[in-house]
Amino acid sequence: GAPGPGVRRVLLKLSGEVFGGGKIGIDPDVVNGIARQVAQAVREGAQVAIVVGGGNFFRGAELSQRGMERSRADYIGMLGTVMNSLALQDFIEKQGIDTRVQSAITMGQVAEPYIPRRAMRHLEKGRVVIFGAGAGMPYFSTDTVAAQRALEIKADAVLMSKSGVDGVYSADPRTDASARRFDDLTFAEALRLGLKVVDAAAFALCMENNLPMIVFGMEGEGNIARVLQGERIGTLVHG
Ligand code: UDP
Repeated sequence: GAPGPGVRRVLLKLSGEVFGGGKIGIDPDVVNGIARQVAQAVREGAQVAIVVGGGNFFRGAELSQRGMERSRADYIGMLGTVMNSLALQDFIEKQGIDTRVQSAITMGQVAEPYIPRRAMRHLEKGRVVIFGAGAGMPYFSTDTVAAQRALEIKADAVLMSKSGVDGVYSADPRTDASARRFDDLTFAEALRLGLKVVDAAAFALCMENNLPMIVFGMEGEGNIARVLQGERIGTLVHG
């Protein structure tokens, strides 16, 4: 069930891109740094579930542009998120925090199947739960899965980490000098402005179900620990 009063249950979305430290594959130092921050937040009482992306390995849309069938390319993308999940599990457990990986694609040797009620029990026991393989369905993104998992496990908020950007901007700050960062905005505004920093489907799911979202950058020192502990960094997107 939902956590008791005062307990913060959050769903953290980690973009796969950062796991590779800018390259294809996994950079153990980067993953270890993320794991330490997660462990710190759990020790301080937060219940933490995580959805990991896979952009450091494969993106289905990119593979399909180069001639692969889209669905198969998306399954390859999902398998990449499982590799990231196992790497993250390893480093979080080295911090002394029990961790379970639940995969949306059955692979019993390395992960439990996705069982939401069981995931909630793990959280209540102080375990970190990492959701791998996205939704298990092609044509979805891990941002959308993060919103869905957050809703199903009754998280208080979904925390969307991004690499290379520290919040939601009025336009793409890399190409538009007039872009300004929002401290907060509504889901309706984000959708109306067509902001791409988070998928529209994720904004829509949160809007329909009144689930707050925080979009923040991974780059700042200790940013993951800060946002997990409830500090207001980045942009709050709300109903
Ligand atoms: N993917 C999918 N269904 C899902 C989640 C992910 O098909 O439910 C595939 C999709 O091809 C995507 C890839 O897995 O490009 C990696 O996920 P994503 O691009 O969301 O990772 P991130 O950008 O967060 O690193």
